Amino acid sequence: MARTVAPAKWAFTPTLPLRTAPIARRPLDPVAVARHMVSVWQPLSSRVVILATSFMAWIWFSPTVTEAATISPGWVAEVLIRNYVVVLGSAGLTHLWLYTWRRQGDELGYSRPPARNKRIFLFGDQVKDNMFLTLVFAVPIGTAWEVVMWWSYGNGFNLSSSLFGQDGPLTWSGGWGHRLGFVALLLIVPVYSNNHFGVVHWLLHRGPLYRHIHAVHHKNVNVGPWSGLAMHPVEHVALFADVWLFLLVPSSPLHMLFAVMHHHVGAPLSHTGFDGIYLGRRGRNRDGADGRGPRLKLRVGDFHHQLHHRFIECNYGGLESPLDDSLGAFHDGTPAGDRRIAERRRRLAAEHRRRPATTGRAH
Ligand SMILES: [Zn+2]
Ligand SMILES: [Zn+2]
Repeated sequence: MARTVAPAKWAFTPTLPLRTAPIARRPLDPVAVARHMVSVWQPLSSRVVILATSFMAWIWFSPTVTEAATISPGWVAEVLIRNYVVVLGSAGLTHLWLYTWRRQGDELGYSRPPARNKRIFLFGDQVKDNMFLTLVFAVPIGTAWEVVMWWSYGNGFNLSSSLFGQDGPLTWSGGWGHRLGFVALLLIVPVYSNNHFGVVHWLLHRGPLYRHIHAVHHKNVNVGPWSGLAMHPVEHVALFADVWLFLLVPSSPLHMLFAVMHHHVGAPLSHTGFDGIYLGRRGRNRDGADGRGPRLKLRVGDFHHQLHHRFIECNYGGLESPLDDSLGAFHDGTPAGDRRIAERRRRLAAEHRRRPATTGRAH
């Protein structure tokens, strides 16, 4: 794929045009899908960071399934505090690194820093507004969903438990069948999360749902890490609700935590406004331009979603979702994509004017 020059409105872009991932294209190409599923698991990627966080949370900072059978303040508080610490790391530390301390200046940044002192924001400040929505609503609501799921694991309320008896939920120690299922479900969770988000997000762009709920998230035109979970509380309830899957399919609490951490960790990282975070250098006196080793880059940004914040009526899902292709709403980041989406917005506005009372912002 040829690299094009970044359109003038962006300081940096990944390789353009963006393309839907093979797993979401039709007809399905099994070889391309296999390559994709390997390539997304690079060690320095947000997907690996999310899984590592989930694993640590599962091993060290969660109740046992037996403890979770009874809801008690002790383990609920432990889960809440753990989630606050996780979000202070994923959003807070990343914000300090990229925007307060500016440790890599504008390098790999898509566009301008978040706006300040805008009257639309609580406290007149985009970052403080976003922090308020995240810390007061997102973390407690996400924790509440997680507590419900722990309680259901503890009591065997998952449909998988009742179908498969005590061997139901996947456990690493449950034999080779379980181990294969365990790993396969871990590979599927990010794709599922991407698609669940896409559908919920697209629904939130319709009519009154947008005006009363989702518009809160879209106060962020230029995004930063604290934008990721800055939403109306109703949107938090819908977003974290993706854990319902684990009531139906055999799973371990790790799979549930992996889905939850796609929000607590994944959302802030994908809204950094930077394509990556430089972590340091590999080795010494190697082939870096200044005589030192090549730089290590943690892949965090999501230019596809950055385009959504700029142009709004495009890119509702992620690259692993077929939704935008099917709606004709895929913005590939190029000037031609700008024109396609501008035309789409004109068409939607015309439809809205024709049928405002019945359908709102229909697609
Ligand atoms: Zn967003
Ligand atoms: Zn949106």
